[in-house]
Amino acid sequence: MREGWQERFAETPDVLIGRGQERTLVPVRDFVIGGDEFVIMAGPCSVETEDQLIAVARHVRRAGARILRGGAFKPRTSPYAFHGLGLEGLKLLAKAREETGLAVVTEVMSECDVSLVAEYADILQIGSRSMENYSLLEAAARSGRPILLKRGMVATIGDLLRSAQLILDNGNPNVILCERGIRTFETAMRNTFDAAGIALLKQVVHLPVIADPSHAAGHRDLVPALARIGVAAGADGLIVEVHPDPDKAWSDGEQSLDFAEFDAMIADLAPWIALRNQSCGLQFGPGPRLLEAVG
Ligand code: PEP
Ligand code: MN
Repeated sequence: MREGWQERFAETPDVLIGRGQERTLVPVRDFVIGGDEFVIMAGPCSVETEDQLIAVARHVRRAGARILRGGAFKPRTSPYAFHGLGLEGLKLLAKAREETGLAVVTEVMSECDVSLVAEYADILQIGSRSMENYSLLEAAARSGRPILLKRGMVATIGDLLRSAQLILDNGNPNVILCERGIRTFETAMRNTFDAAGIALLKQVVHLPVIADPSHAAGHRDLVPALARIGVAAGADGLIVEVHPDPDKAWSDGEQSLDFAEFDAMIADLAPWIALRNQSCGLQFGPGPRLLEAVG
């Protein structure tokens, strides 16, 4: 490993840890992402009905989540699949926030929808399929909302960092990176969870990194294990799909946890999160080699 990461990612200098660089703390309502607290984002893949959303929001908040996820604009591979409730979904998310105090993260798919989604969301999610939609990234950046930037399913770490750099270049420092699995030759899982990518990101960038075990796994039985791996790799938080009745979900039911499964996962993670909070190995900062490269 003679080449320094600094040289490898030379095109994206502002996302890299430099000498004396503080980690980026992304402010969301009354807390921050990227600080000492491990932040859980949870909720359904899609906003479906008021009852569904409020039930999930109440449940995940009781279990310790800080942020409610839920798609109102859904990018779907099939043109015949459910594409989201749109504005009605955004209104339901705002209602759930009011009832529970949870912050809201939701995807924006089109440049034209940025100002509408930014009115309702605390964090704008840029989906995997949109990571290289540069006009969307610029518009989302200029909204001033924090951005959850999901890694494209065929994007390298360098590609992800280039998109993050573009958001910073457009005046928005509040970028949260998200590893959600990438496509490889392996087809047993929906995607291949790049745990090493999380560990690398935490060594070279000052932005928070979130793990999405749901889209990486594609199957609910694997989600708790991938969540644990995400914590161990140094992630600053998780985004997880939860549904009151996953088999009836309008999207991504196979990978959604029901309430009991979510509770079990959170209980299972507690000692790992406690370890993370104590571990020197996971503390922010470049490895010695990067320090050398920075000079
Ligand atoms: C989602 O979060 O439901 C989603 C569509 O994720 P991704 O963009 O990672 O596929
Ligand atoms: Mn989904």
